[in-house]
Amino acid sequence: MSKADWLIYNGQVLAETCLLPRGFVCLQGERIASLGEDWRGIEARRRIDAGGRLIGPGFIDLHTHGIADVDFLQSDPESVLRGLSLYASFGVTRVLGSTYANQYETIIAQLHRLRSVMQDRERGALLHGVHLEGPWLSPRCRGGHELEYLRTPERQDVERILGEVGDVIRTVTFSPELPGALWLTERLCLAGIVPVLGHTAASFEEAEQAIRAGARHVTHMYEATIGYRESEVQPLVMLPGMETAVLLEDAVSIELIGCPLHVPPPFFRFLDKVKPRDKKVIVTDSLVGTGMPDGSVLSIKGGRQIYVDQGVLRLIDKDPAVNGNFCGSAITMNVALRRLREYARLSTADAVRWGSLNPATTLGLQRETGSLLAGKLADLVIMDEDFNVETTFVKGRLAYQNRTET
Ligand SMILES: [Zn+2]
Ligand SMILES: [Zn+2]
Repeated sequence: MSKADWLIYNGQVLAETCLLPRGFVCLQGERIASLGEDWRGIEARRRIDAGGRLIGPGFIDLHTHGIADVDFLQSDPESVLRGLSLYASFGVTRVLGSTYANQYETIIAQLHRLRSVMQDRERGALLHGVHLEGPWLSPRCRGGHELEYLRTPERQDVERILGEVGDVIRTVTFSPELPGALWLTERLCLAGIVPVLGHTAASFEEAEQAIRAGARHVTHMYEATIGYRESEVQPLVMLPGMETAVLLEDAVSIELIGCPLHVPPPFFRFLDKVKPRDKKVIVTDSLVGTGMPDGSVLSIKGGRQIYVDQGVLRLIDKDPAVNGNFCGSAITMNVALRRLREYARLSTADAVRWGSLNPATTLGLQRETGSLLAGKLADLVIMDEDFNVETTFVKGRLAYQNRTET
């Protein structure tokens, strides 16, 4: 048998169908050649002794706006590539860069620039494409998106964006109650883009229609979504909303931000209980500042000053009522998964699924990546029991290493 490129051995292997308490993974080129329990006789050019640590699939973040000083809507390609190396240091092998509502010209120009980053296969995590968050969002549930940039989906604008940068876009978050949203849902499906519901006050019926038209995922459930509300015409009559529709429909996957301030812990347990095994996803929704030490100060859009504080961002302001207010997520995927495991009381393997195979499934990539299985892409991470990452491989390439080889 010819020599393998890498043999990673003596680790707890989180394989797709089982946990191997003491096993190996063997890489050849871009792919996993084999995995199992007995690595005697396997010849490899390079070897890593995992020392009893976890060997798991690399993480896929479907929703992140940035990391450190890098912002997917604003930073130049070289900076984004630097950011992708940082993602790899937290075990992330694939990223959808998220934009926020802005002028069409700004979004289109940046997506042209990000196309060149997607083609770079040499550094850090892979930029799999872009998650367009807005500008087709409801003003009522806009969250951090600026009102002046919110739009309803007009055909000429949608066609222009798809015509110019449709190949870069993988998912689009929009509010299903907007005029034209059903047409948009179908148009995105035709373009091979996943339609995503979010930032929405939609009724049950509006959400159900969007699901019928092809919507298949929900952006940060419970954050800028509405569970149910009282009828405006008949007091005391309660009306179900989007949340009920997406919980009832098994085909729709749901993402939660792995941050206890955005999503209090009982929501993690609840979603774990009611959603099918492959339809629950953890994301970071992280902004600039992520991965930086506590107390780091940054400027964000609008010239505001913020600081990093234990996985979240807080405002700096002269007004004591505003100073210190929570204004966004700065969590990394490995910490999000550690919290998910605790909050939802999951096994390590079940928690990791939310950040690997499940997001791959939402993107339709589950046959290529997202789990450790012979023949799949060698996207994997070596980490300790607390998800502190030591080594990350992206398509068989050593993308991050914080230890010495043997
Ligand atoms: Zn959002
Ligand atoms: Zn976001």
